[in-house]
Amino acid sequence: AALALTLTACAGDGAGSSNENATDGEATEGGTIGVAMPTETSERWIADGNAVQAGLEEAGYDVDLQFAGDDIPVQTQQIDAMITGGVEALIIAAIDGTALTSQLDAAAAAGIPVISYDRLIRDSENVDFYVSFDNYKVGVAQATALLYGLGLTDEAGEPTGEEGPFNIELFAGSPDDNNANFFWDGAMDTLQPFFDDGSLVVPSGQTAFDQAATLRWEQERAQKRMEDLLTSTYTGGEELHGVLAPYDGLSRGIITALQGAGMGGDTIEDGLPVVTGQDAEIASVKYIQDGVQQSTIFKDTRKLADQAVIAAQAYLAGEEPEANDTETYDNGVKTVPSYLLEVDTVYADNITELLVDSGYWTQDQIDAGQ
Ligand code: BGC
Repeated sequence: AALALTLTACAGDGAGSSNENATDGEATEGGTIGVAMPTETSERWIADGNAVQAGLEEAGYDVDLQFAGDDIPVQTQQIDAMITGGVEALIIAAIDGTALTSQLDAAAAAGIPVISYDRLIRDSENVDFYVSFDNYKVGVAQATALLYGLGLTDEAGEPTGEEGPFNIELFAGSPDDNNANFFWDGAMDTLQPFFDDGSLVVPSGQTAFDQAATLRWEQERAQKRMEDLLTSTYTGGEELHGVLAPYDGLSRGIITALQGAGMGGDTIEDGLPVVTGQDAEIASVKYIQDGVQQSTIFKDTRKLADQAVIAAQAYLAGEEPEANDTETYDNGVKTVPSYLLEVDTVYADNITELLVDSGYWTQDQIDAGQ
């Protein structure tokens, strides 16, 4: 019951909730929790970091929040310092999910519970819990948005009978991020029937994950690959109708390349290819509002942060956090008990409902694109 009370306090707007927490019992009192986030170049991780910090502070903890600039050695040093500094628990969104084995060994030796945040930490026995979104479903949602944008299915993914063929290109995320494989698998499973019946074609032939992957999720890298694809495959007047992009930063890099090459026009209405996304980054939400980017996947980082706080509190109260999935996330050594959240697909016509009404962005922020 104490945990449930605290959750309510964290999930609310904060008004009047800190006093409730103060009476919430000794189990949630005191100590420092280390929170390691990958980078500040993408808004979502700043929002995640801030929301986790606020939730933990409200629950009575001090927080050591660090961002690592997408630099693996920086992140390992930050986590080493948290462990030697005596944190009570670690909440980690890894840059490279395979690079933290020795840190996690040290944490286990010191009795520090480790919560893998959003991205699964691989190859270690010492990942205690995983909080994330249903990453396979994210990929399904991205592919469904693309099919819908092309007119091959309705919004729910039901085939319309349209036969195409439509030309698309495929982008994947960073190969060292476990999520990238889940996004890819969900998307490819959804697109496969349309490849099979010939209504979708990838003219470059680059249909393998390794060919589509984008190291460190870098926007510039995606822009460069899109430019290269346009040069290698689309200079003879071939049309490109859509691009599967798994993250808004990549989407904007891809759109820059498409607009730069005059592929279709400046907006989807003018013939710009349909480009998907993820994270509801403000610049992409403005693009969606303006008809430039077709869609994004909204992951409510406030809800994920709440789950991380709940899990940390459970461990520090000597309990196990409640999982809602104990089968999916095998990290190579063990299947990590997980709490997975659902996502929503944002299109131009539901920005207000999903993002403004929920308080995630204000309309002014969206209009300004920042
Ligand atoms: C996250 C995505 C994000 C991507 C790039 C993934 O691990 O799940 O939400 O778009 O990293 O930061």
